[in-house]
This record gives sequence, C-alpha cells and structure tokens, in this order.
Amino acid sequence: MNMEHGRTSLWILGDQLRLDHPGLEQADHVVLVESGRLLRRLPYHRQKLVLLLSAMRHYAEALRERGFTVDYVRAPDFTYGLRQHIERYRPTRLLTMAAADHAGRQWQTQKAEAVLGLPVVVLPNTQFLTGRYNPFPAPGKKVILENFYRAMRRHFGLLMDGEAPVGGQWNFDRENRRPLPKDAAPPAPLRFPPDALTRQVMAEVEAAGYGLGSAANFGYAVTHAQARAALDDFIAHRLDLFGPYEDAMTARHRTLYHSVLSPYINIGLLDPLEMARAAVDAYHAGRARLNSVEGFVRQVIGWREYMYWQYWRLMPQLARSNHWRATRPLPGFFWTGETEMNCLRHVLRSALETGYTHHIERLMVLSNFAMLAGLDPQAVTGWFKAVYVDAYDWVMQTNVIGMGLNADGGQLATKPYIASANYIHKMSDYCAGCRFNAKARTGPDACPFNTLYWNFLISHEAALKANPRTGPAVLGVNRLSADERHDIQRQARRFLDAL
Ligand code: FAD
Ligand code: SF4
Repeated sequence: MNMEHGRTSLWILGDQLRLDHPGLEQADHVVLVESGRLLRRLPYHRQKLVLLLSAMRHYAEALRERGFTVDYVRAPDFTYGLRQHIERYRPTRLLTMAAADHAGRQWQTQKAEAVLGLPVVVLPNTQFLTGRYNPFPAPGKKVILENFYRAMRRHFGLLMDGEAPVGGQWNFDRENRRPLPKDAAPPAPLRFPPDALTRQVMAEVEAAGYGLGSAANFGYAVTHAQARAALDDFIAHRLDLFGPYEDAMTARHRTLYHSVLSPYINIGLLDPLEMARAAVDAYHAGRARLNSVEGFVRQVIGWREYMYWQYWRLMPQLARSNHWRATRPLPGFFWTGETEMNCLRHVLRSALETGYTHHIERLMVLSNFAMLAGLDPQAVTGWFKAVYVDAYDWVMQTNVIGMGLNADGGQLATKPYIASANYIHKMSDYCAGCRFNAKARTGPDACPFNTLYWNFLISHEAALKANPRTGPAVLGVNRLSADERHDIQRQARRFLDAL
C-alpha cells in the first residue's frame, strides 16, 4: 500500500494494454472491465471483438504473472463494473490513464469522481509520442503534416544525419506509388493459431449473437510477444517493398506489403517508437531501402501522431462537421458487398470478411465513393467504426471525417481526396474485371466513379476553384458543353436515386 495515498486501484482501459503502463508502479490492484454496453454499441466485427477481449484477458494473465493483483470484471457497463470493484477492494483512490477518445476522457475527468464516489487521478496518455513530446502545444494553431513530421523526426532522432534527413530528403514519395507488377507475390502477414483462451473468447463471441462477420479463422496477435513477432515478420519480409507498392491495389492479394500492425499499436501491444526504430534499424543494417523505411516511419510517427494531435485540436466540433452538406444514407451494399462496381465489391468484401483493408482502399475507393456520392459523414464513420478491427474514435473521426470526406472543410488535409476511375485504373487491376468502362463518364457502361466525379466538380465548381490545390482539376469543367454537363448530372442523379 502507498503510504501517501492509501489503497490505489488502477483502471486500465482495453486499448491501453501496455506492459509499461504509467500507473502500474503506484497500483495496489489493477482493474480491467469488459463493458457489455460498449461491446454491443455498434455491430462490431467479430474479429475485432475477439481481438480486444482475448488481448485484454491475456494481458490480465501477464500482469498476474508479474505479481499484480488483477480484478477482471465482466459487467453491463463501466460504471457498474468499477462500482463492483470498489465494493470488493475498497480503494481510497482510482488511478487511470487518459483515454485516447474524447467521450472516454470527458467521463474520466468530469464525471467519474461523482459517479464512483472516490478521488480519480487521470495520468497523461503515454501511448502516443505526442504524450512524450508535443511539437506544437498551442492547440489553436493550424500545422501541416510535413512540419509536424519533421519536428517528430528531429526530436526522436529517426533517420537523421545531424540536423539533415538521411539521404538528403525528408520525403521519397516520388519513388513510391507504383502499381503492383503482375508477377509480384507479397508474403502474407504472420498469423497466430488461437490458444485455449482465444478459442474460449471466439466461442463466446459467436454464441453472443451480435456483431458482424465471423470469429472463425481468427489469427491476429493477442499478446505483446506475438505482436512483436508480427512486427519482426513485417520488417524481415515486407518492409523493403512497402514504399514502392504502398498505394497499389489488387484483387489478387489483400494486404500486399502493408504491415497490418494497426490492430496492435492501437491497443498498446506495440509502441510507435518501437515500430519506427525497428524499421530504421533495418535500413542501417541494409535490409530495407530508404524510400520504404522513410515511408513507413512517416506513417507511424507522422500521420498517426498527427491524426491524434489533430483529434484533440478539433474535437468535439470535428464529429459534427459536414462541410459539403452530405446527407445521403449509407447504401445497403456497404453491409453486403453486393455491387456491380468491381473495386467497391472487392474492397467491401475484404473489409466485411476480415475487418481490414489497406489505406488506399479505405481512402481512394471507399471514402472517395462516399464523398462523391454525398453520403452522410457520421453514417460513413459509423460503418468504418463497426467494420474495421483497428477502429477507435480518435482515428476514425480524423481519417473519415477529415481525410476521407473532407467534411471538416480542410482542417486536416489541404484538399479533398477525390478521383475519377482514372486513379483506380492506374493503381489497381480492378477495372479489368469490371462490367463498367473506366474510360466513360456517361452512357450505360460509364463507370459511376467518373459520372459522380464530374457531377461533384460541376456541383461544387465555385468552392473547388477557390482552393488552389483543387482549382486546376475544376478547369476541366470549363471544357464541357452544356449538353455534356446536363448528361453527367442526369446520369449521376439516376445513379444516386437508385442507391
Ligand atoms: P501500414 O500501411 O502498414 O502503415 C503503418 C502504420 O501507420 C499503421 O499501422 C498505422 O498505425 C499508421 N498509419 C498510417 N496512416 C495512418 C493514418 N492516416 N492514421 C492513423 N494511423 C496511420 N487507421 C487506424 O488505425 N484505424 C482506423 O480505423 C482507420 N480508419 C481509416 C479510415 C479511412 C477512411 C482512412 C483513409 C484511413 C484510416 N486509417 C485508420 C489509417 C490507415 O488506413 C490505417 O492505419 C492503415 O491502413 C492500417 O493498416 P496497416 O497497419 O497495414 O498500415
Ligand atoms: Fe471501379 Fe469503375 Fe474500375 Fe469498375 S470501372 S473497377 S467501378 S473504377
């Protein structure tokens, strides 16, 4: 017992499963709560439910092996579970690490003490590098990714040669963005056969009857050691070609050279610095090329940290943003994958079956379609949150509302990520097997991405022209005749009405 504070219980959230959790040193007991309400709030993918529950239970075991007393509570909700724990262990204070999401942190800092009837101490969140070093602490300031990323690289000394970036450049994007060659055979990510504890969770999740997809064939890592093995496997077998094919899409392979580590880093099984350093070490050891290593480091300590930093800058307004006034409900095929559009069908089916698709599929197929079709931003966010194994509020609101749908009016990304079929055709092999024609924008075989893209440019011509980064794209609209404009708008309306 801590003489200064009396008996301390440490409440560890399910996405904070760190072995170096900052509260462990002061804890007399640890409490983990499985909240039934949280698990049922959305029709979450069963792979995600198994991942979370099994990782939490394995974590509880790991802490017990290290000598901690762990109270693992299964309760209808957090309040009920924490009250049960307090009754049993009679702590004099509750310690917890600040939640990564806005609603959770509001509850911890503003309600928990009153609801639980004891002092609640909220420790700073150390899961993110910005919790250790915040390069831009003034929250009102708008900062572009590139400046944020360079500040992080400098501070953490990643790929630095004194003050200069290794290789003389901060960014090697021009060497990346290649389509996948026909003969490429990316090695699949490491999978882990479920142990008895995971099999028990899989059976529970299937029997509970809620959620989507299936718990069968579960193969995600659920312990720190497994997550580290998944990281090592990525570094050894896929990192070297990660950069060149980062943006490629194919119907032949689901994960390409991506790391598939987001499910682990987002719940504390991996640390961002550990991931970035492992990649940099591979570069110095001559095992991975610089453009790949820099690209990966930028994703982990650049984009990921930037999104978290932006989330806390822009919430709660971010969640209510709807800059383009999009109100169309989500089409039913998002839940079934049943659409004639080959790219969408492939990506939706992958997401619905596995809870994973890679970044460009999320951005340039799913959100691109959602934005061009004017789908309601919160409906789209709800879908992503339910389906993806790595989805949490901080990363959803920023990536879907901000990056994907530009519903924040450009706070996060300087231009909307919209494209016609041209982009998908160039970066994937989806169009070859599609009933639509990627070159046509009107007519019975016209690719809906083309019709909707041009319809979007026509509908938002003035706003897009005013943005220097999108202005040039809209110039094409000037070349359309009145008849062509009319045909595009009529065909788009018919397509959207049929959704
Ligand atoms: P890799 O391509 O191997 O990248 C390495 C790591 O970089 C990832 O594991 C991830 O931790 C990090 N990263 C890269 N880009 C981002 C980013 N924009 N935001 C946050 N982290 C990033 N990421 C999630 O973790 N959860 C989500 O729910 C999520 N939803 C998204 C929805 C949309 C519409 C978009 C456009 C992006 C979303 N992302 C999300 C970001 C990114 O797509 C995923 O992090 C990435 O695809 C995860 O796969 P990976 O681990 O194979 O990533
Ligand atoms: Fe997608 Fe259009 Fe290509 Fe079909 S033609 S795969 S709908 S981009």
